[in-house]
Amino acid sequence: MEQKCPSCGSCGMPMKKIEDFGGRSLENKYCVHCSDDEGNLTATFEGIVNYYTDDFIKQRGLDVDQARKLAEESVSKMSAWSS
Ligand SMILES: [Zn+2]
Repeated sequence: MEQKCPSCGSCGMPMKKIEDFGGRSLENKYCVHCSDDEGNLTATFEGIVNYYTDDFIKQRGLDVDQARKLAEESVSKMSAWSS
């Protein structure tokens, strides 16, 4: 069976090593940037959208409105925000 690298349920970052996991627990669904030492989610939808918006502007050369729309769509699909 193929071992798939888990990704953060909040921001989508691939979690490849133990340091990437919130609370340094492989059981954690969220990465170290999105959760506290106990692994509780601390990130906000708005915060992640802002991060992605910035990234899309820099990486893809989108304008702010396009980037924000795309960011909101992408982030809404993450398990932490999809319900
Ligand atoms: Zn994350």
